[in-house]
Amino acid sequence: MYPQSLKDLIESFKLLPGIGEKTAERLAFFLVNEDEEKTDFFASSIVNAKKNIRTCSICNSLTDKEVCDICSDKLRDNQTLCVVEDPKSIFLFEKVGSFHGKYHVLDGLISPLDGVDPDDIGIEKLIKRIKDEKFEEIIIAVKPSIEGETTALYIKKILEGMNIKVTRIASGIPIGTDIEYIDSMTLERALMDRKEIN
Ligand code: ZN
Repeated sequence: MYPQSLKDLIESFKLLPGIGEKTAERLAFFLVNEDEEKTDFFASSIVNAKKNIRTCSICNSLTDKEVCDICSDKLRDNQTLCVVEDPKSIFLFEKVGSFHGKYHVLDGLISPLDGVDPDDIGIEKLIKRIKDEKFEEIIIAVKPSIEGETTALYIKKILEGMNIKVTRIASGIPIGTDIEYIDSMTLERALMDRKEIN
């Protein structure tokens, strides 16, 4: 019933998470009624982001350079490394603004039940980086869950005997909650109250 190009636009919106038929139609109709200048910018933003955004060669966060701004920032505390499970968590911590160390993004969490091993989430690269850059404290800032716990304990075990403090944020974060749904004050509190993993 729709012209082909409108149908394509609706189908494209439906590729997005959480967007169903009705919303896709609404968004498509909205866009075709917008100025061409705005829709050109919208379209080129998608193309440019896809073309330019890549993972930082050091920390795996998203960047449009070879090495991201945080990794290349000489003023940051280079003794503390905060390990997160996705790049989104970094932007969240940066918004809170109370952490001044470096970050490292894992490619997920260890989950034996789903067949996700340490090798699958890039632990080796993390450990090499910890040794090379001589961090003194590793803060594990992944969601409190069985997978998060397993991953934290695994990292702690590998670093045993290396005189590196391994801490874990936890307090105030309900079990199973994604870091992205936590308000910034709770996240800041959780970071301040981090506990050493024993
Ligand atoms: Zn980086």
